[in-house]
Amino acid sequence: ARQFTRPLNDLANQWNTLLSAMAGAERVFEVLDEEVESRDEGAAVKLDQVQGAVSFQNVSFGYDEGRNTLEGITFEAKPGEMIALVGPTGAGKTTLIQLLSRFYDPSGGQILLDGRDLSSIQRESLRSHMAFVLQDSFLFDGTIRENIRFGRLDATDEEVEEAARLANAHSFIMRLNDGYDKVLKHGGSGISQGQKQLLAIARAILADPSMLVLDEATSSIDTVTEIKIQEGLQRLMQGRTSFVIAHRLNTIRQADRILVLKDGRLLENGSHDELLEQGGFYSELYHSQLKRAAM
Ligand code: ATP
Repeated sequence: ARQFTRPLNDLANQWNTLLSAMAGAERVFEVLDEEVESRDEGAAVKLDQVQGAVSFQNVSFGYDEGRNTLEGITFEAKPGEMIALVGPTGAGKTTLIQLLSRFYDPSGGQILLDGRDLSSIQRESLRSHMAFVLQDSFLFDGTIRENIRFGRLDATDEEVEEAARLANAHSFIMRLNDGYDKVLKHGGSGISQGQKQLLAIARAILADPSMLVLDEATSSIDTVTEIKIQEGLQRLMQGRTSFVIAHRLNTIRQADRILVLKDGRLLENGSHDELLEQGGFYSELYHSQLKRAAM
């Protein structure tokens, strides 16, 4: 999985760059925009409000000509639903997220957001309604307060702290020598992986987006922090359409809908119970994981 985390990290960095762009550093974003992506069509619109209804209609996409990485993907996500993406490595989970955030556009079919074709929405506008909580979320050299505030640059200290409380990050921050003023260096080298995630959750809560992308951590995190992260994520996901690249059974089980991808195709689509009932690929996966967990 490691080799594919880079595109998603690029995406998160873009989101972060976008946030600074909105605060006036347009130049940075323009450079990045031109380098990485083709220009938006002149007709593309900005969205003020997003409900978060997502519809993939027979979507296909290939990085290379003549070979599709995703093929005929069709599903609906209602506003506020939690969608788990499951499937073996290379199945196309990351690629699906990249299409959703217009890192790429489909070569066939359509993606709709609130009934509007995604390709008619400006990329920066689209992404301003999304937040990303990734395995290795982007932290910059600055204080903890500044790092959380990156979610919404005009937030007050009180709002930053409120977001940190909701994310379950407040108590660990208060135990640090300088609290919210602690300076993070080298991507947060002084704090644990789990604590970094709590900060990323706080940042996303502050951003208050309609859509979320979560890439669940695969690395082991101590049980106490893990529980805090799960609680923080629950609060974050509440009322937002969330796409989770899920590795944990517990997370997957809670999802409103599980999309099982394999070799670029949507193999199964349903709730945990529905998919177990079907007795297909997911059911096999589930039972083999259960067996492993019991060993
Ligand atoms: P993982 O669980 O390992 O992260 P994934 O389900 O997210 O896998 P993707 O990263 O979407 O899978 O990759 C799907 C396929 O597309 C793979 O065969 C991969 O090699 C290919 N692929 C991914 N990114 C690129 C790229 N930038 N250029 C060409 N091929 C790519």
